[in-house]
Amino acid sequence: MSNSRPSVNFFREILGQIQVLIYLKTALQVGRLAHAYLFLGPEGVGKASTARALAAALNCESLREDGDACGRCPSCRRLAAGTHPDYLEIFPTSEGRQPQIKIERIRDLRRLTAYPPLGGGWRVVLIKPAEALNDAAANALLKTLEEPPEQNLLVLTAGVEDNLFPTVVSRCQKLAFTPLPLPLIRDELARRGAEPAQAGLLAALSGGSLARALALNYDEMVEKRRQVLADLEQLADGNTAPLLDWAQRLAKQAGEAEAFLGLAALWHRDLILLGQGAPAELLANRDCLPEMEAACRRQRPGVWFRRFAAIAAAQRHLRANLNPELTLDFLGLHLRGGPTP
Ligand SMILES: [Zn+2]
Repeated sequence: MSNSRPSVNFFREILGQIQVLIYLKTALQVGRLAHAYLFLGPEGVGKASTARALAAALNCESLREDGDACGRCPSCRRLAAGTHPDYLEIFPTSEGRQPQIKIERIRDLRRLTAYPPLGGGWRVVLIKPAEALNDAAANALLKTLEEPPEQNLLVLTAGVEDNLFPTVVSRCQKLAFTPLPLPLIRDELARRGAEPAQAGLLAALSGGSLARALALNYDEMVEKRRQVLADLEQLADGNTAPLLDWAQRLAKQAGEAEAFLGLAALWHRDLILLGQGAPAELLANRDCLPEMEAACRRQRPGVWFRRFAAIAAAQRHLRANLNPELTLDFLGLHLRGGPTP
């Protein structure tokens, strides 16, 4: 299975995001596209791919009936090869502490957009992510947004608009991208050669982001899950000292607590589903079916519900920036206790 990011160039290759695509194709067909768009949504759900597909459709020499680019004309071929002169991507440079898009890049952009697109069609410029624009760069970009040059279209991407200059946001048309449905990610992973059990687990852990699903390593996740199950078993023994050690160990490393909670939540969710008689295809951990069936025989369903609620509460607390060690201590106390009558 390939771990590389998908190279998507056309609307028809984009997973989900149906409303955004209908809107863009319609706007394109009736000639009502805005000069600047702000694509909002989580990482890895198709924002940059949609910008590329939009550039392809805007410059295609024989647009298909469904509003998508043909994929065969010289413009489409150049775009797919990454050599289209009128499609540009501006990314942050990572010198210094934080990756930033600096004012020089925006000045270059302003100089370029003073001239018409080389191919005679539309120039599309992707700025990804807009959060990386430093103050000077955002101010310089504002001038371009205020006096949009003809035949130029800017696409900015961001997670949420809160971290952007309100003046920049107000001059862009906002389009909301949503996390992808898990079955869509699972099927895409399978299409790229993943086994059903692999695709199921990775999709369930992806949070609706295809990029994250592709970046996850199945063997690593299986090893992590083994550790999580060992930890859960030890916590259930009920001794306080190992519990505190566990909380301290997880809290020390960034991301470890979230990873633990994600896998633990998924495991308990599966146990609840299995207890309700759900088919194995719905389980993220279907490769552990015998183990899960044995666990279901040992415990009453109410136990899984209570533990799942405690894990979900800990996830909320971590997201709200509560102290990780305290959150995990508290969770550990909720997870302890062996079989209940
Ligand atoms: Zn074409």
